[in-house]
Amino acid sequence: MTRAVVVGSGMAGLTAAAYLARDGCQVDVFEQADHIGGVTTTFRKDGFAWDLGPLMIEGFAPGEPCGRVLAELGCADRIEFVRADRGVVFPDYRLQPPSEYIGPYWRRDRLKELFPGEADGLDRYYEFYDTMLDLMLLARRSEGAGLLRSLPDKLRMARLFGRVKRFQTWNSKQLMDHFFGDDRLKALFLGILADLVVRPSDFMGLAVPAVNQETAFDRRLPAKLSSIGARTTFQYVVGGCSRLVSAVAGVITEHGGHLHTSAPVSRVVISGGRARGIELASGEAHDADLVLVTGGARECFFELVGRDAVPASFTAELDDLRLMESVLMVHLGVDMDPSRHQSGALDYHYHTYDLEGAVARIQAGEYHEGNDGFLIYIPSFHSPEMAPPGQHAITIYTVAPNKLRGGWEARRQEMTDKLLDRAEEVIPGLRKHARVTVSMTPGDFRLRTHLDHHAFGGVSPVMGKSGAPHETPIDGLWFLGAQSETAGGVNNVTLGARTVFQKIKRGH
Ligand SMILES: Cc1cc2nc3c(=O)[nH]c(=O)nc-3n(C[C@H](O)[C@H](O)[C@H](O)COP(=O)(O)OP(=O)(O)OC[C@H]3O[C@@H](n4cnc5c(N)ncnc54)[C@H](O)[C@@H]3O)c2cc1C
Repeated sequence: MTRAVVVGSGMAGLTAAAYLARDGCQVDVFEQADHIGGVTTTFRKDGFAWDLGPLMIEGFAPGEPCGRVLAELGCADRIEFVRADRGVVFPDYRLQPPSEYIGPYWRRDRLKELFPGEADGLDRYYEFYDTMLDLMLLARRSEGAGLLRSLPDKLRMARLFGRVKRFQTWNSKQLMDHFFGDDRLKALFLGILADLVVRPSDFMGLAVPAVNQETAFDRRLPAKLSSIGARTTFQYVVGGCSRLVSAVAGVITEHGGHLHTSAPVSRVVISGGRARGIELASGEAHDADLVLVTGGARECFFELVGRDAVPASFTAELDDLRLMESVLMVHLGVDMDPSRHQSGALDYHYHTYDLEGAVARIQAGEYHEGNDGFLIYIPSFHSPEMAPPGQHAITIYTVAPNKLRGGWEARRQEMTDKLLDRAEEVIPGLRKHARVTVSMTPGDFRLRTHLDHHAFGGVSPVMGKSGAPHETPIDGLWFLGAQSETAGGVNNVTLGARTVFQKIKRGH
């Protein structure tokens, strides 16, 4: 029987472990924290519950890419999802799902009202958007399908690609300048890049539609908008993200696998150019035929494996990884009804139109103190059980540099207060009504994830750069998770774990 060790119990590690366990491997998952799930964790205090990491996840509905993973693992029916969407608020305008559904292109039409001079550019952008979404769908469908079966889709892709080919070397700044004149409108499509900590001039233009899928902005949008097929939708996990973790973890244990918590791995044992197992910080050793590591790429190869065990060209690649930054997060349990101030569960507030400058500053280690923007998430809107009756769980967070001059700990209270000052401009009285307040700094995230540099979504999607490869220079050692997928995301790490399993099955 093949023995597999998985380091880390986030969604990447658990998904890979579940596939391996179902396939008959003897699987052991080692997690340094005292609970499984990595950042996909729901924590509770005084009757309130908040998600530590992912809020809105992509593609988990039945038939969608991650929904199919759950079905393959046999645990899809153990998790309840609701369709999710989010509002966007800028200093001069806001785009929030209207109370009555008014069609799939309501954002385009509303933008035309707000920016009448941009009407032609908006029509052209949305045509480009539809082409790109069709291309994404065709690419996904033809992945893994045999040559003959995928031939019609590939021919269709070639035809469609002709329409957007001229943009293929453009960055997102050039693309926005091509369609629009007003910086306030460009910022709507570029805003999410601040979260991904990538400058518009470093982000691929063709990928702008992928990070601005209209289904993310109105949960009533039908998935099937094009003759080509259904587009992906976005979900919240009812009751919190740890239910997703429990369902996948259940697959591992039901197939004889073991989950070990409070078990930091300190070394990957290598001999004869092959991974032979791991050693825990406690000194305990576990032999294995396969070792799958998640978490930090540099931590994996420089600390657990050792720089000397991998070629210099590989260490140079890792030194060059463009990691995202971290987040400052404040969780509140309030005895008030915030629905008068925020109608949906999630709103992104941007206070700047200068995304290029905002990202450059955070990359230089400068924290904006909440002044560039933040988001407000109220999970108890979609899952009332996440707060006592009549009360609400609220999470406010913003991107923040992994390290702060003077240290995060020394400035925790000051930075928490500053973020809450900004949030109270949206929902007045938050502090007065707070029964519970829990803040999480990048320092806390570093500890929870065992990373030297906490990058909240892993590797930044910089043009021409990729994440750490799944296949490593050491036989039997695989690397997966947020730092192997550009733009992280629960969907990407889940699908990446499935890809690793398939490669292992095929013998690469
Ligand atoms: C605040 C926040 C908000 C986010 N929002 C979203 C969102 O809305 N939608 C979305 O799709 N994604 C979101 N993400 C990103 C997404 O959650 C992550 O990219 C993804 O969950 C990462 O999964 P993972 O398994 O790679 O890593 P993790 O969840 O970090 O798991 C890695 C695990 O490995 C363990 N580990 C590391 N080293 C060792 C070791 N040596 N020994 C033992 N254990 C070890 C760590 O303790 C950790 O538990 C968010 C992330 C954060 C932090």
